Order: sequence, then C-alpha cells, then structure tokens
Amino acid sequence: MIDLHCHSTVSDGTDSPTALVDLARAAGLHALAITDHDTLDHVDESVRAGAAVGVRVVPACELSCTTPPGVGTMHLLVYFPAAQGALEDALFALRGGRDERNMQIVERLRETGVDITMADVLRETGDGTVGRPHIAAALVHKGYVDSIDEAFDTWLARGRPAYLERTRLSPGDAIRLAHDAGAVTSLAHPGSLDLDDDALDGFVGALVDDGLDALECEYARYTREERDEYRALAGRHGLLPTGGSDYHGAYKPDLRLGVGRGDLDVPDEWLDALEARRPR
Ligand code: AMP
Ligand code: FE
Ligand code: FE
Ligand code: ZN
Repeated sequence: MIDLHCHSTVSDGTDSPTALVDLARAAGLHALAITDHDTLDHVDESVRAGAAVGVRVVPACELSCTTPPGVGTMHLLVYFPAAQGALEDALFALRGGRDERNMQIVERLRETGVDITMADVLRETGDGTVGRPHIAAALVHKGYVDSIDEAFDTWLARGRPAYLERTRLSPGDAIRLAHDAGAVTSLAHPGSLDLDDDALDGFVGALVDDGLDALECEYARYTREERDEYRALAGRHGLLPTGGSDYHGAYKPDLRLGVGRGDLDVPDEWLDALEARRPR
C-alpha cells in the first residue's frame, strides 16, 4: 500500500514532514508522496526521515491551475521533480501571489466586521505555504465559526463574500514546467472540476494534448463508483492511475493517511509505472 497525496505543515496539513513519514511507517505504507501546495520545501526533511525508517519518500507537490469559466478547481500533482530550476522559481512566484491574496482576504473579512489580522493567521501556519485553511483556523480560534468547513461555507469558498482569486499557472505551463524538471503529472481529484461526463472527457483530452501523464482515480473522498469511472476515463486516454488520501491532519478530520476513510488501498505498482514514465 502507498499514498501519493497528502499535506504537511509546509502547506496546509497539521503534521510535520517527519511526523507524516512516521505515520506512514506505522500504517505499513511502502511509499509516500507529500504533495504540499506550491512548494518543495518539505522534500529534504521527508526524504531524510524516510531513509531513516525505511519508507520510500517521493519528491512531489500540488499546483493550482487556471480554469476557463464554468470549470471548477484544477489541481495538478507533480511527481519526481528535480529541485532547483524554473519550476522552483515558478513556485516562488505562486507563493508571492498567495501572500497578496491572503492579505486581501483578511482585509475583506475586516470590512465585513470580522476582527482578524494577518498576525492571527500566521499563528496558525507551519513554515511554508499559507492558505485559506489557515485563515479558516484563525476564524475558528477567534470563535466566529465552529469548524473549518463552516469558515469555508460562510466566507472562504468560491462564491462566498471573502473569496478572492490568486495567481495560478495555466495547465499547459504547469505540465511543461513539470516535464522540464524531470517530473510526471497527474490531474488531482477530477471531481473538483465540476464537469459532467462529456465535458470532463473533453477537458481531460485537452490536458492529454498538453502532455498530462496520469489521473488521480483512487481518491479517498470518492465513492467506489466514481473511482471506477475515473479509472475508465484514464484508460480511454492512455493515462496512468494514481491515488491518495489527501490527508491534511486536523484540517480534514475524516481522512487517515494511506486508508482515507478506511476503504483506500493504492497498489505499489502504480508508483513504479509512474516512475517509468519520467521524461529523460
Ligand atoms: P488555497 O490554496 O489557499 O486557495 O486553499 C485551498 C485549500 O483549502 C485546499 O487545498 C483544501 O485543503 C482547502 N479547502 C478548499 N475548500 C474547502 C472546504 N470547502 N472546506 C474545507 N477545506 C477546504
Ligand atoms: Fe490543501
Ligand atoms: Fe488538491
Ligand atoms: Zn491536496
């Protein structure tokens, strides 16, 4: 069993990279990819921790991409990127765009009468990418809402009063940067695109033309039927399957590393196939 999608304190998870590796070992996982948002700063620590306890740790991250009107959220998982170079510069720029957007969200919240500052948000963060989950946590701690989900539903989700866009890469640019860094790419949680079957098929086909390598089929929050549909979709487009829990620690309390809600089991061979697809 392996897990190719989870988050540490270097973005919006609540376990450190080392703690995640320890959890992976305790869960009997053979390999782990930590996919923090817009950063590779978790890689060194986790690879070292993995070597110490005998868990294979794959360098990885998760990038947010632009989508056309009418399409929901697109995240791209990037596996085996070499550190340094154009990809890391792009990640640096993305984090800058996030910081600006986070400030604007806090200002917007203050305009609507919520007493919150950037200092409140930064108290919730680890040592990397800052995002909406940290703002949500600050709202919980200040007593404005009872849960992270309620903070998103009330203010932070797309369409809510304090939602603001941030800088993103186009899917084509993201895939190209990843390939140039020696990495392979997988379309994360395809359901978040919010497309019907035909539209999703067309959207994925266009990504395949851009060079997409894989599709995240075994995703912890999807039903067996949904997972099977995504496997069929991957098969039709010659995409490899990937899978993972999207474990975020306390930010997504229903999910456990490796097993998700208890019914996740991503086969080891999927990682070998992914690695074999690395550009050279
Ligand atoms: P950001 O990257 O800062 O825009 O924040 C996006 C992150 O917020 C995602 O990676 C999820 O972890 C989390 N998220 C998005 N929507 C929700 C939601 N409705 N409830 C809880 N967490 C969410
Ligand atoms: Fe996240
Ligand atoms: Fe994601
Ligand atoms: Zn994720």
